[in-house]
Amino acid sequence: MKQLKSLHDLALFGASPAFAEPLHVGRPNLGSREAFLAYANAIFDRRWLSNNGPLVQEFERRLAEFLGVTHCVAMCNGTIALEIAIRALELKGEVIVPSYTFIATAHALQWQEITPVFADIDLQTHNLDPEAVRRMITPRTTGILGVHLWGRGCPVIELQAVAEEHELKLLFDASHAFGCTHDGVPIGAFGECAVFSFHATKFFNTFEGGAVITDNEDLAVKMRLMKNFGFSGYDNVIYPGTNGKMTEMAAAMGLVNLDAVDEFVAVNRRNHVLYSQRLNAIEGLSVLAYDDCEQNNYQYVVVEVGEAFPVSRDEIVHALQAENVLARRYFWPGCHNMLPYRAFYPHVGLLLPNTATVADRVIVLPTGATVDESQIETIADIFNILSYSKKVGYQECCREFL
Ligand SMILES: *Cc1c(COP(=O)(O)O)cnc(C)c1O
Repeated sequence: MKQLKSLHDLALFGASPAFAEPLHVGRPNLGSREAFLAYANAIFDRRWLSNNGPLVQEFERRLAEFLGVTHCVAMCNGTIALEIAIRALELKGEVIVPSYTFIATAHALQWQEITPVFADIDLQTHNLDPEAVRRMITPRTTGILGVHLWGRGCPVIELQAVAEEHELKLLFDASHAFGCTHDGVPIGAFGECAVFSFHATKFFNTFEGGAVITDNEDLAVKMRLMKNFGFSGYDNVIYPGTNGKMTEMAAAMGLVNLDAVDEFVAVNRRNHVLYSQRLNAIEGLSVLAYDDCEQNNYQYVVVEVGEAFPVSRDEIVHALQAENVLARRYFWPGCHNMLPYRAFYPHVGLLLPNTATVADRVIVLPTGATVDESQIETIADIFNILSYSKKVGYQECCREFL
């Protein structure tokens, strides 16, 4: 491994990159290959590939048990799962959401011509601020779609109170929060339902996939109809529906990964602890903490870059990417600044100061089974070099090399 001591050792300034191969954010977590191939063989033998096959049924059963709910409806991806949940709850008009989330949270509403009304977040937690939510309620509001960002529960009790007061439906996008708890309670216990994404890059994946979990039986029945064209049996459609079905191959991946969840958490946790030790020691950096009294999946290593750090967030990302550390800005510049929403609702940014602040501060770093401790030490060294460089030194180097 290359020794990194001064600015001149950085790839940005002409040295060779610290890593020969790129380190990705969201490189898939994989369970047992042998177990997966055994499932794949069985799928071939059965010739049952989709349409609520035995593996999907087993997956739903095991997932409901693992997540501590009565109903789990598996789907083809998280976005369709969100759309179906929103539709099954009969939301319309306006629904309040954070802007600081993955774009699909907003799209799932806009796609069915429901206005996503963006509410601001809390600077510390990055989650919805219940008072900001309250301020965005109008006579057209029908629901609140909270997001458990980075796997940390959003303020469910306060949001529940707002929802009850205004007779709004409350549901959660729990895409980041697989296996997480809030106040010791499994994350799926809150609101009408919780939606997960099992996309390849998520903590728990089924290649592509998603699910809605709920304790509400009527809601589960309705969503099962909706994800299968509204068929209630052969030749009998009783509901308008779409195609949200999960395949057998996806369920096989889910079953295999479910057996490996503890290993995934252990590696992520080890990485998160080391990143935190090394980066929190540098002035101007702080790694978002997970409460050790809760269950977390530690999938996101989120670094906030403060004023005290001598180079900007974007300059850090640039320097890291040159070293083959494919660090990412996350949810920048916020959903409300993405073209469709910027065009529809040009002034909403005025009400989202904390969203802007957080979106400008955050870097997400690579973790997971393919990132080891020596690599994290090297990444920390890169941050250290950047932190020693006074602004002037860095800019002189920039002038020399760029
Ligand atoms: C990934 C993600 C989604 C979308 O899920 P897909 O399975 O990719 O469709 C929705 N919301 C959040 C917060 C996500 O992170």
